[in-house]
Amino acid sequence: MNKRRIQNKPPAPRPSGEPCARCHKTDEDRRTLQAACFYDLSELKIPFGRKLVLTPVGELKPEACTEVKPPVTLPLQGRDPVMLVPPTLTYTGDVVPEDLFTLRLCKDCRADFMVALSIWWNTTPTVRRGADTGIFVREYGAVRELTVQEAQARWPEWEPPSDLLSREK
Ligand SMILES: [Zn+2]
Repeated sequence: MNKRRIQNKPPAPRPSGEPCARCHKTDEDRRTLQAACFYDLSELKIPFGRKLVLTPVGELKPEACTEVKPPVTLPLQGRDPVMLVPPTLTYTGDVVPEDLFTLRLCKDCRADFMVALSIWWNTTPTVRRGADTGIFVREYGAVRELTVQEAQARWPEWEPPSDLLSREK
């Protein structure tokens, strides 16, 4: 007689040995987040890795591509196959290097990232007004003018000039 094993919960994920950069779990299925916005994201104090990607100048020219290794795909019944390994190509067109910031994350941390991105997208953009102090700092890639109080909090030893103090009142 055939014994059937009934599972009430999905099997525990097998450890991959590769820790998630954010939560340090070592379960399976790491994902790579890649970001570039023409700014040094290391200001965020997040332990990004780096990856150099070569991007075609303008449109990709199919005639300049030669497939060296075909893609490895997983056929799925009634659905489009899933590409497990992309093809390896030789490209003879012009390319530009792009420096990407990367993070190897678990699925849960990727989900948190997507939630954070959704909150950012759906929040009213900040309108930054000048404080008229002439004290400018670069923060997260944007120039911002500090108030006297913000400057004092940032540099406690700084003595604001009297004209700035009178302007603040
Ligand atoms: Zn994680």
